[in-house]
Amino acid sequence: MIVRVALPVPLPRTFDYIAVDLCPADLGRCVRVPFGRGEKTGLIVALPDMAEVPMEQLKPVIAIQREAPALPADWLAMVDFTARYYQHPLGEVVAMALPPRLRRADAVSGNEADPLLDLTDAGRDAIHSTKRQSRALTLLHNLANQGPRRKSQLREGNSANPAVTDALKRGWIAPSAAANPAAMAGAPTLTAEQQAAVDAMSADFGRFQTFLLAGVTGSGKTEVYLRLVQQVIAQGGQALILVPEIALTPQLEGRVAGRFPAARVVSLHSALAEGARSQGFVQAMEGRAEIVLGTRLSVFTPLPRLGLIVVDEEHDASYKQHEGVRYNARDLAIWRARQRSVPIVLGSATPSLESWYAADSGRYRRIELANRAVAATLPRVRPVDVRREKLQHGVSEHLLRAIDARLQRGEQSLVFLNRRGYAPVLSCPSCGWVSRCPHCTANMVLHLADRRLRCHHCSFEAGIPLACPDCGDQDIQPFGRGTQRLEETLGERFPDARILRVDRDAARTRSQWDALLDQIGRGDADILVGTQMMAKGHDFPKLTFVGVLNADSSLFAADFRAPERLFQQLMQVGGRAGRGELPGEVMVQTQYPDHPLYQCLAAHDFARYASLQLEERKQARFPPFAANALLCANAAELAMAIDWLKAARAAAEPLSQAFGVHVFDPVPMRMVRLARRERAQLLVEAQTRPALQAFLAEWSRQLWALRAPRELRWHLDVDPAEV
Ligand code: ADP
Ligand code: ZN
Ligand code: ZN
Repeated sequence: MIVRVALPVPLPRTFDYIAVDLCPADLGRCVRVPFGRGEKTGLIVALPDMAEVPMEQLKPVIAIQREAPALPADWLAMVDFTARYYQHPLGEVVAMALPPRLRRADAVSGNEADPLLDLTDAGRDAIHSTKRQSRALTLLHNLANQGPRRKSQLREGNSANPAVTDALKRGWIAPSAAANPAAMAGAPTLTAEQQAAVDAMSADFGRFQTFLLAGVTGSGKTEVYLRLVQQVIAQGGQALILVPEIALTPQLEGRVAGRFPAARVVSLHSALAEGARSQGFVQAMEGRAEIVLGTRLSVFTPLPRLGLIVVDEEHDASYKQHEGVRYNARDLAIWRARQRSVPIVLGSATPSLESWYAADSGRYRRIELANRAVAATLPRVRPVDVRREKLQHGVSEHLLRAIDARLQRGEQSLVFLNRRGYAPVLSCPSCGWVSRCPHCTANMVLHLADRRLRCHHCSFEAGIPLACPDCGDQDIQPFGRGTQRLEETLGERFPDARILRVDRDAARTRSQWDALLDQIGRGDADILVGTQMMAKGHDFPKLTFVGVLNADSSLFAADFRAPERLFQQLMQVGGRAGRGELPGEVMVQTQYPDHPLYQCLAAHDFARYASLQLEERKQARFPPFAANALLCANAAELAMAIDWLKAARAAAEPLSQAFGVHVFDPVPMRMVRLARRERAQLLVEAQTRPALQAFLAEWSRQLWALRAPRELRWHLDVDPAEV
C-alpha cells in the first residue's frame, strides 16, 4: 500500500505515498504524485511496510506509469549508491540518470523497425545490369563490399534516406535472416601483444576484475576492446563502452557498428534528441541491444545481460561531472562491475595516477601494450631550452626551423598551446622560484583582485613580493603569456603556408569541427595552431611535427593534478605525430628542460613518471594517499559564503576528531566571482575513502540542517577533480 518515491527536489529525502492498486512489479516504476500545491513525477524506489510519517498524513498517488518497463533492482541500487557516495539527493540523481521521456508519463517504446538489410539476388543483378548512376546503386555497391547493415546506419543521419526506400521498393535489398550478432567484419589479425592481452583478460571473464590496459598511443587498444566485446556477445552478453567525449563517439560508433554489422549498437550521450536517448535506454534495458556506447551518462544504462565494461581513456577529466550530481563515471563503472560480477577494462596510454597506484598495489591487474600496432616507432620527443634564447612572440627558432623543414617536405605541423594549464602562479624567470606555500606542497595562487597570494589548501596568505625572494630579480611574473599573436607570428614567418587555427572559436559547431577535420585530413593545411581539442582521438597521416608552447605553466599550477594532466596531454598530443608512415617529432619549449616530467616524456617512460609523482603525492598526502571532498558555497557577497562555511566547519569539529578527518579553513576560490556570484570553498581531507564517507554521511545531515541565508547556494564535491 505504501510507496517510497524519489522526487526531483533538492532535499536529501524520499517521500511516502499510498497506492491502492499496488503490485510488487511497481518497484522501479515512475509515478505521478501530489507535491506541495502541485504535482510531480518521481520514481518508486521502495515498497516499505511502514511509512516514515503517520498513515493519516499520507496522500494517495495520482497514477503509476505502467506503460514503460520498471527499472530493475540493480539499477535502483546503483542510483542509491550514487546518491549516498556523492552526497546528493536521490530524486535528483534519478532525474539525471533517467531519460526525460521515461520520467514523464509518455509511453516509450524501445521498438523500432531497424532491420538488418542485405542485398537480394535482384540487388546483385542490378549492380551488373544497371548503368544509370543513382544513390540506390551506390548503396548496393556498399552493401556488396561491406556486408549487411542496419537500416539506421544506411540512413546516415537522414531520417528517411530515399535511396534506402527506393532500393527496398525495388526489392534490391531486404531484411536478412537471423544473423549472428557476434560476427565480425574486417578485423585485422592481432599483434602478438594484443593477442596476449585479449587472452589474459578473457581468462578472467565471468567474474569481477579491474584490468588496467596501459597501451601507448596507437598500440591498438580499441582492437583489444572489440575482441573482448565479441566474446561477450558470443556468450549472449551485453557490453558497455564508455568514451570521454561526445566528439569521439561518432568515430568509435562507426568503427564498432562496422565491425559488428549484425549487432545492435546503441549510442548514448547528452547531445542526443530526447526520443533517441529514451529509445536506446529502453532497448538496452530490454536486452535487445548488444552494445551500448556513450559518454559518462551512459554508465546509468540498465543492462540485464551485462558481461563487460570498457572505459576508454580512463584518465580523462570529462568522466567527472562538474555540476549537479558530481559523479565520476569511471569510478561508478567499477562499482557497477563489482555489483554485477563482470570484468571491467580501463584503457589509457597515460592512466590516472589513482588507477596506476591501484595496479601497483595489486587491486587492478595491469596489462601493457608497449608497441604501436602499425607505425613502428614512437615519435622523438625533446624539450627545447628557451632560457637563453630570444623568442619571437613566444616561439623559439628551433621550433620555427622544424616547421620549415616540414613545409619543405609537404608535411604538416601542429603548434600546440597549453592554455588550460594557465594558472596565475608567480615565478621568477632567473632562478626558477615559484610562489610555494610555506605550509603545503602546493603553490600559492595570485589573486589580482585584492593583490594577494593565497594557498587553496590551508588558506595561508601573503602579499605580492616586489622582487624574487631568492635572487632579487624584479622581473617576477605570472605564468602564461598572451598567445593571440601566435597565428600572426607564424603567418609573418611563413607567408606562403596555409595556417589553420583549431580551437573552440574556430569550431563552434559540430559541422564546423567536422569540416576542419576534413580539411586537415585532406592535407589542405600546412600548419595547425591548436588547443586541447587537437590533443586526442584523431589521426592525421601527414602530421609529423608537434611543437608545444606554454607547457611550464602547468608544472607549477596551484592544482596538484596539473602536472599529471600536463604529462597526459603531452603524451596524447605527441601521439598525434607520425601516426601514419612518416616518423614523428615533438618539441616542448621549456625553461626547465631537466624537469623529470620532460625527461620521462622524452623517454616515453610513463611508469617512471608515475612513480615519481606518486612519491610526491605520498609525501604531501594527496590522493590516492588521501581522500578529499570540497564544500563549496556561493552568494552575492563573499563574506556570506565564508561565514556559512565557517559555521559548517564548526559543525564538523566534533565529528572530524571521531573520524580522523581534517577540515581546513574556508578560502575564496581562485575565480572568486562567477556569474555575479562570489565563491568560496573548504577542503576536507581523510586518510581513506571509507573514513571520508563515514564522516560525510554525518556531516552532510548537519549541513542540510544548518541555517543559511536564502540566497546562499552550497554543494559538496566528493573526489573533486581540482582543489
Ligand atoms: P589506440 O586506441 O591504442 O590508440 P587504435 O586501436 O586506435 O589504438 O589503433 C591504432 C591504429 O592501428 C588504428 O588505425 C587501427 O586500425 C590499427 N591497428 C590496431 N591493431 C591492429 C592490428 N592488429 N593490425 C593492423 N592494424 C591495427
Ligand atoms: Zn629568482
Ligand atoms: Zn598552504
